[in-house]
Amino acid sequence: MNHPSTYRDQRVVILGLAKSGVSVAKLFHKLGADVIVNDKKETCPEADELTALGISVLCGYHPDDLVDDRTVLLVKNPGIPYSAPPVRQALDRGVEVITEVEAAYWLSPAPIIGITGSNGKTTTTTLIGKLLDAAGMKPIVAGNIGLPLCDAVEEAEEDGWIVAELSSFQLKGTTAFRPRIALLLNLAETHLDYHGGMEDYVASKRKMFANQESGDTAVLNWDDETCRAIAEGLSADVLPFSLYERLEAGVCVEPPYSRDHLAEGADEPRRVIVYRRPASAGGGEAVIMPVDALGIPGRHNTANALAAIAAALAAGAPSEGLAKPLELVRSVEHRLEFVRELNGVKFYNDSKATNPTASTMSIRSLKGPIVLVAGGLDRGSDYMELLPVFRNLKGLVALGETKEKLLRVAELAGLANAHSVNAEGDAESTLREAVRQAAALAEPGDTVLLSPACASWDMFASYEQRGSIFKQSAHTL
Ligand code: ADP
Repeated sequence: MNHPSTYRDQRVVILGLAKSGVSVAKLFHKLGADVIVNDKKETCPEADELTALGISVLCGYHPDDLVDDRTVLLVKNPGIPYSAPPVRQALDRGVEVITEVEAAYWLSPAPIIGITGSNGKTTTTTLIGKLLDAAGMKPIVAGNIGLPLCDAVEEAEEDGWIVAELSSFQLKGTTAFRPRIALLLNLAETHLDYHGGMEDYVASKRKMFANQESGDTAVLNWDDETCRAIAEGLSADVLPFSLYERLEAGVCVEPPYSRDHLAEGADEPRRVIVYRRPASAGGGEAVIMPVDALGIPGRHNTANALAAIAAALAAGAPSEGLAKPLELVRSVEHRLEFVRELNGVKFYNDSKATNPTASTMSIRSLKGPIVLVAGGLDRGSDYMELLPVFRNLKGLVALGETKEKLLRVAELAGLANAHSVNAEGDAESTLREAVRQAAALAEPGDTVLLSPACASWDMFASYEQRGSIFKQSAHTL
């Protein structure tokens, strides 16, 4: 690992001028590096702030000589592929290429809790922040969730924690990164276009644990085969969590759930969350709280809570203090967020469900008949993964690039009430029309759920915009 002071008077190239690019540029500038920031986009509103500090910013193109003989480091935005010309140039010249998370690790006075996985990262990161906060452990929640990591590093104190939501893109650009506590929540087949296949995706996630040592903790989902396989051969102490198994050591639900969702009846037992200390840590058991006291709905959120509890315990939070914050917590916006009830029909906004696995979880979480609003950017999947849950839908209103594919799955599922909305107007009026149609299909006791199973970029600027329009539409019905 290179110490930050080694960058004084050295050329550091920052590629990509998003929020994290600004944050990392300012940090290296402060360390005395000769920073140059480059972005292909024409207009860079963030440039003024950096130029005022004396940092060189080049926008609109990648200069051929961006990475020169003097360049010692390139920090790239996680979304920029390794095939981009400046990244290739740097790699060819033997210049180290990292993402912001690596730099943040080098500079952080506080230990880091890293959270990754295909689904549930933001929710789990938020929960860990709340648990550590309640325990007076001074967490700073950062990473993909909002605050750039390099900003968090500036605020962090030695006796606090940085709680970092990390994507596989960010992890791919790490070398020495060593989180004190690392969580892998699950692995579904998403982002395969960027990674070029599951192997590279799993390898990126595995980097979370690559530099961990004994005494560090790896929190892993014992219900996910890939996560379990990753546990083998790790140097860190493994702390598993499970919904479906009674664990000798770890955080689990008792009695365990059945994997067969349909096997559950109305007379399900009252479940509790239990922590069993490993024998090496003295053994013993603590009941954390009843599952039904959790403030966020759905079994997937129970899994997120188990992971957060494991992380908080590993960080040293007392087990007695964990129940209260988990009772008070509410869904993060756009994640199975309750919107309103109208004429006995409930409306939920789950716009952040951008892949079929996420939507499957949400559909299974809600009680009673569901009219689903779904569809969006086509990433090439056939969406057959949705077939089992489509069998139990009351209706579907599909929109966006994938609407025909979703209608096909609905047909195979024998769903009579399946419609699509054509984008004759703008995106907003299309979604409004979808909500109107879904509401018309719903009866008292039903739920209208926006859980698109697809990213938003075919029609909307972001999943937030899509979710907000859904909410407005539901409120103005
Ligand atoms: P991420 O940050 O990984 O995208 P979020 O916490 O923002 O995850 O949740 C996004 C969506 O993913 C939720 O709306 C829900 O549909 C689904 N989801 C959340 N947690 C899980 C989980 N543990 N397993 C599967 N799906 C989940």
